[in-house]
Amino acid sequence: MPTPQPRRPHQTRSGRGSFAVLDPATGEPFDEAPDQRPEELDAIVDRAHTAWLHWRADTNADARAAALLAAADAVEQAGPDLAPLLTREQGKPLPESYAEVARTAARLRYFATLAPQTQPIQDGRAVRSEIRWRPLGPVAAIVPWNFPLQLASAKFAPALAAGNTVVLKPSPFTPLATRMLGSVLAAVLPEDVLTIVTGREPLGERLASHPGIRHVTFTGSVPTGRAVARGAASSLARVTLELGGNDAAILLDDVDVEQIADRLFWAAFRNCGQICMAVKRVYAPVRLYSEVVEALAQRANQTVVGPGLEAGSQLGPVNNAPQLARIERYAAGALAAGARAAAGGGRLDRPGYFFAPTILADVPAQSPVVTQEQFGPVLPVLPYQSVEQAVEAANDTGFGLGGSVWGTDLDRAEQVAGRLECGTVWINHHGELSLAQPFAGAKESGVGVAGGPWGLSGNLRPFVVHRPLEA
Ligand code: NAD
Repeated sequence: MPTPQPRRPHQTRSGRGSFAVLDPATGEPFDEAPDQRPEELDAIVDRAHTAWLHWRADTNADARAAALLAAADAVEQAGPDLAPLLTREQGKPLPESYAEVARTAARLRYFATLAPQTQPIQDGRAVRSEIRWRPLGPVAAIVPWNFPLQLASAKFAPALAAGNTVVLKPSPFTPLATRMLGSVLAAVLPEDVLTIVTGREPLGERLASHPGIRHVTFTGSVPTGRAVARGAASSLARVTLELGGNDAAILLDDVDVEQIADRLFWAAFRNCGQICMAVKRVYAPVRLYSEVVEALAQRANQTVVGPGLEAGSQLGPVNNAPQLARIERYAAGALAAGARAAAGGGRLDRPGYFFAPTILADVPAQSPVVTQEQFGPVLPVLPYQSVEQAVEAANDTGFGLGGSVWGTDLDRAEQVAGRLECGTVWINHHGELSLAQPFAGAKESGVGVAGGPWGLSGNLRPFVVHRPLEA
C-alpha cells in the first residue's frame, strides 16, 4: 500500500508547523497536530538515550513494573477522554474505541509482570555461565492508523518492560489520541522514557534510520516495511516488522453456514475491514456457494453504517480518502471484470468516507481485490471444487499473516488448517489473539516476533557471563 500523506500542512499561530487532522465521518478537519521536523529527532533521541541509562538498570526492574502498572491504571482512567477522540480521528464505533483503550491497559499490565529472567547455561562444563538479558537502547516505534493505541502499546509495553526507552510515531491520520495517551503516561513514567513525535514524512523514514535508535519496531504495509528495513540497515538496528495480510477463510463442506455466518462476517468487517488479520477472502465449496454468499450479503445489508460517535453505528467510515479511493478502485475493478455485488458495491451517498459493506460474488481469481490486500469493507467470496484447490488458492499469495478453516468436524478442519502457510490459524474463528501468544507473519507479512514472552525477547539481547567455579 503506498503511503498517503494527510493534506493541508500549515503554520499554527505559534508559527510552528502543523497539519490538519480530519474526521473521517465528515471528511472535514477538526483539529491539528504538530508537524515535527526530522531535524528535531536528534535532540529527542539523545534525551531518550539519557533516560535509558537510568531506566535500563537491573535494579530498576521492580520500579519499571510498578510504573507500567500505574500506566495501565492511568490509561483506563483516561478512557472517557481517549475513546471519543480515537473515534473522531479513526472513525470506529465508540464501543470499539473503549475496547481498544482497555486492550492498551491490559497489554501494559501483561508486560509489567514479564521481567527478563537470568538463565543458567547448562552444558556439563565445570564453569558457571549464565545469560543476563540486556535492553537494547532507544527503540523507534512506528504504527499505522487502524488501531493507533492498541498497536502503539504492542510496541512500547514490551520495549519499556525490557528496559528500553521509546520514541513513538503514530500515523499522521491518527495522531491525536496517541498524543493524549503520551500526556497521560507522562504523568506516571520518568521523563523521556516514552516520547511521542508527530509529523508527515520523511519523519518516519528519518526515525527508522536514526543512528541513535537500536531497534525499529514497525507495523504497516509491506512497501513501507521494506523502506523501514533499508533505513534501519544503515545503523544495523534490529527490526521487527508486522506487515500486511490477505487472510483466507476456507469453509469446508460440513460447515453449518447459519451457525458461523455472524462470526465470519464480523471477522471480515470489524473496524471496517481495516485489520491486518481480517478475513480478506472466503473460499466456499461449490455446493454451499450460493448459501454462503446469501448469508453474508444478508448481514452486510442489515449492518448499521454511520458515524462512530452515533449510538447504534456498527460500522464507521473508512479512515482516510486515499484508502477509500483504493477500496473503490478494487471493487469497481472486480465489478467491471464480471463480479456481482451481492450486497453494497460502492460509496454511500453522504459526506465522509462511508463505503457500503460489500460482498462480491463470481469474482475472477486474479482480481486485485482477491490477490492484494483490500483493507476495507469489501469481501470477495470464491467457489472451490476440492479442498486441495482451496488450500492451494489460500497459499497462493506473498502474504502469510493468518488464515482460518470452518467446519463441523474439528479434527478434519484442524488437519486442513495445518496446511496453511501463515503465522496463526483459527478453526471456526478468525482474528482472536491472546496477549500471551507469539505474533509473527510468514512470508512477506513480517520479520521477527511480537507478543507474549517473544515480544519481550525481541527487545532484549543476551549478555553471557562465564566464570570458573573457583579462582
Ligand atoms: P503505512 O505503511 O502506509 O504506514 C505505517 C506507518 O509508517 C505510518 O505511521 C506512516 O506514517 C509511517 N511511514 C510512512 N512512510 C514511512 C517511511 N518511509 N519510513 C518510515 N515510516 C513511514 O501503513 P498504513 O496505511 O498506515 O496501515 C495499513 C497497513 O498496515 C496495512 O497493510 C495493514 O495490513 C498493516 N497492518 C499490519 C498489522 C500487523 O500487525 N501485521 C497491523 C495493523 C496494520
